[in-house]
Amino acid sequence: MENKIITIEEPDHNALLHSVSRKIKNPHDTDVLFTMQQMERICKQPGVAGIAAIQLGHPYRMFAVCINKSKPVKFYFNPKIVIYGEIIETKTEGCLSVPDKQGKIKRSKSVAIKYQDRNLKMHYEVLESETPEEALYTQCVQHEMDHLDGVLYIDKAEAIYSNEEMEAIFAKAQAAKDLEISLQQEFTSQIFNGDFLGDEE
Ligand SMILES: [Zn+2]
Repeated sequence: MENKIITIEEPDHNALLHSVSRKIKNPHDTDVLFTMQQMERICKQPGVAGIAAIQLGHPYRMFAVCINKSKPVKFYFNPKIVIYGEIIETKTEGCLSVPDKQGKIKRSKSVAIKYQDRNLKMHYEVLESETPEEALYTQCVQHEMDHLDGVLYIDKAEAIYSNEEMEAIFAKAQAAKDLEISLQQEFTSQIFNGDFLGDEE
């Protein structure tokens, strides 16, 4: 079978992406192993943060995270987020199964996750957002976990933009920032010009 990510553009695939993935009972099943191989391959691509098995058309409860390419791909089997931290942040998100779009979505700044490894040994992890990499990891885990329950970010996003619109928003934000900097520079040069040195005789 080919190594292809399914997208919402095809009705059958959209329906599958909105279905709940099934628990993995035998991680050494050939189809599970094959799916893992495909996921590893996709994880090697730059810009890919994570992938859920269902995105390859295999609705198993597993996902992989690959934010730091110098570390091995991390697999989560039968995961469950047991605590969603109370601090919520609005994040920008995209998905390989939702081409050419990005959205604004609320995610918890920290989560606690229970999962099994490839030998079905149980683990428990607390994910925080102390560094930008950790923040991305914590966001990614929430995104992938949703995939396993048939939920896409676009189903609960506050706003959805095309890549083009998003670029325009970034350009506008950058322009506003540039204006602020130039005003600041003007103000600073006024001070250096002596305009604000009123108490000199
Ligand atoms: Zn996704």
